[in-house]
Amino acid sequence: MSKPGQTVLTGPAAVGTLPIAEIFGPTFQGEGPSLGMLAGFVRLGGCNLTCRDCDTPFTWDASRYNLRNEIKQIGIGEILGRLDEAAPDVPLVVVTGGEPLLYQGRSTLKVLLGMLVGRGQRIEVETNGTIAPGEDMYGHTGLSFNVSPKLAGAMSDDDEAKRINADALAEFAALARYRRAVFKFVCRTVEHVDEAAALVAEHRIPRQRVWIMPEGVTPETINAHGAAIADTVLGHRFNMTTRLHIQLWPKIDRGR
Ligand code: SF4
Repeated sequence: MSKPGQTVLTGPAAVGTLPIAEIFGPTFQGEGPSLGMLAGFVRLGGCNLTCRDCDTPFTWDASRYNLRNEIKQIGIGEILGRLDEAAPDVPLVVVTGGEPLLYQGRSTLKVLLGMLVGRGQRIEVETNGTIAPGEDMYGHTGLSFNVSPKLAGAMSDDDEAKRINADALAEFAALARYRRAVFKFVCRTVEHVDEAAALVAEHRIPRQRVWIMPEGVTPETINAHGAAIADTVLGHRFNMTTRLHIQLWPKIDRGR
């Protein structure tokens, strides 16, 4: 059952389409191992979590946003047309949300990913790690997952049973061993990094496939949180990322 403000967009009206919140580019992938890479973004609406520090609440929070205005059901032709108009010939397409894997059962998403891969673009699917990916998703060569489980201390009030799906994390950990997934944990304090380390150990996630990202929506907070946790990140032998798009465009919260 959905919490107040939470939205999962489904229903007959959505057949043949995907709920699109934003299509934008060219820009840089701002986070994780592909940081700085030229990219286009397709952002889907709807999420199964309600994170306190969510930086894209316009994709799901009906209590603060008019989701009819924020999210439009769009077919593949228009999605590709808008992506190519905004970001032609980018080597990387980031499919993000919200939670894109809510729609992995839709043929529209499978066909879209297949078409992007077929024309030589690499795809990163950004997910909160609560939904195990089906073979229709990871079966695409050239597609990898950026998995960002939500820590209790760092950003989520959702119950652990909702935030952490051990079966899904096991699938993503296995994909990480084949270099088809990386994990990204958003942290503000050393306690958050330690919480991430406990999850990594419990779910046997390869630590060389783990990135820690300081929480923040301004360069100042990102830098401050990064400085606060850097030594602890090194101590755990994890990788570190910043949020390049916030550093470069601190006053723009959409389309970057
Ligand atoms: S999982 Fe991501 S999109 Fe969903 S509420 Fe949390 S931070 Fe926001």
